[in-house]
Amino acid sequence: MKPLYIQVREQDNVAIVVNDGGLPAGTEFECGLTLLETVPQGHKAALRNIGKGEPVVRYGAVIGHAAARIERGAWVREDLLELPDPPALDSLPIATSIPEALPPLEGYTFEGYRNSDGTAGTRNILGITTTVQCVAPTVDLAVRRIRKEILPRFKGVDDVIAITHAYGCGVAISAPGAEVPIRTVRNLALNPNLGGEPLVVSLGCEKLQPSRLSLPVVSDEPFVVRLQDEEYRGFGDMVAAIMRLAEKRLERLDARPRVTCPASDLVVGLQCGGSDAFSGVTANPAVGYASDLLVRSGATVIFSEVTEVRDAVHLLSARAADEGVGRALAREMQWYDDYLRRGGADRSANPTPGNKRGGLSNIVEKALGSVAKAGSTALRAVVAPGERVSQKGLVFLATPASDFVCGTLQLAAGMNMHVFTTGEGTPYGLAMAPVIKVSSRSQLAARWPDLIDLDAGRIARGESSIEETGWELFRLILEVASGRKRAWAEQWALHNSMALFNPAPVT
Ligand code: CA
Repeated sequence: MKPLYIQVREQDNVAIVVNDGGLPAGTEFECGLTLLETVPQGHKAALRNIGKGEPVVRYGAVIGHAAARIERGAWVREDLLELPDPPALDSLPIATSIPEALPPLEGYTFEGYRNSDGTAGTRNILGITTTVQCVAPTVDLAVRRIRKEILPRFKGVDDVIAITHAYGCGVAISAPGAEVPIRTVRNLALNPNLGGEPLVVSLGCEKLQPSRLSLPVVSDEPFVVRLQDEEYRGFGDMVAAIMRLAEKRLERLDARPRVTCPASDLVVGLQCGGSDAFSGVTANPAVGYASDLLVRSGATVIFSEVTEVRDAVHLLSARAADEGVGRALAREMQWYDDYLRRGGADRSANPTPGNKRGGLSNIVEKALGSVAKAGSTALRAVVAPGERVSQKGLVFLATPASDFVCGTLQLAAGMNMHVFTTGEGTPYGLAMAPVIKVSSRSQLAARWPDLIDLDAGRIARGESSIEETGWELFRLILEVASGRKRAWAEQWALHNSMALFNPAPVT
């Protein structure tokens, strides 16, 4: 392969090296640029001389200022970049460039499960909610027995899962911030892939009493098993009670056939993890294109990860559908700035050693690449962590960037399909919704053919375009949503634990 680099915008003064294994000093590109030193794959080379203190520009935006003079052809290492200030939240451009609606896409459907609350599931799963960690091993045991002894009779049900977590007791349940984990537990129980019939296992003495979840009562059947109740004589009794209630629900779930649902019933959560410098030019823009197709079909697209949006927030606030949405975005960013400050951290805590190895120098560069997932449509709503999304179109859900915390909150928001982009690779998966993994580099897709569902690295090699890969992903989402195809994480049953976001104190 001839020496290649990717310059995103004309005004960029750095570009990333495409070739596997990087390129050695002395390499000459077609344009005449010669590398002064070896530049690893995905890392940046200077396209022009950059004086000390001058801006380093990628994606047409300033990703930092040169800490020392950088010669044309030099490797722009992370220590050569000084982090710029984040956009000020009190002077963001709000609703200043609202994108015009793209032409609607008609006729796209998937085969899903219709729920009584109007939502649709892409899977038919029985979820057992827990109010406290104390009961988790008991519910895990009951679930193992249900899978073995009862589930085989119900071929129309995909799985039975225990929704366990570390919350529920030993926590300041009324402190500011405690509403976040509480409403997350509640809304997880109401995820569209769980058929809308919560079943709750409680210990009895915990702080998070089942009534605090305010779950809707859908039948006159009991839906809470409280292990400390007098009626249970021993452990066997408790497990039997859980299994008895589970069986009744399985009968009802099993009786539901898949029906044709419009693509507008999809609630697709987008996330990235283990990003590299290619994420922002291959996988994320392709996902962004698919996100536009979903929005054009009337679906809901959720994107998240506050710390990865913070430095690009001015681009999003300008796309806010109205003033209220823009203000809500600024408010969530401010909440997170304060949250990080209380913890003695700031946004520079975000990039991981893996991100940096992959060529991402700092959080600004990561953020500019990350927002590409959000496509090009207007931002319709901003939703606080743990809340459920009700709007169609592009929605920002204010979550941490941590993969499992973000995934948990997107499930609570009502996500029924998940798309995950990665450069460094992760076997991440969720029990409650299918996860489609998109690689930013072909090298990763080749090394992990049984974990990566779609290779966007072909875009960097010129073998596919952003539009083609975006359409491919859109069609794959419909196939997987219909259960006609299983994503790799689902085939291997890779189920990351639920990780609740709890900004309140633990006691
Ligand atoms: Ca993430």
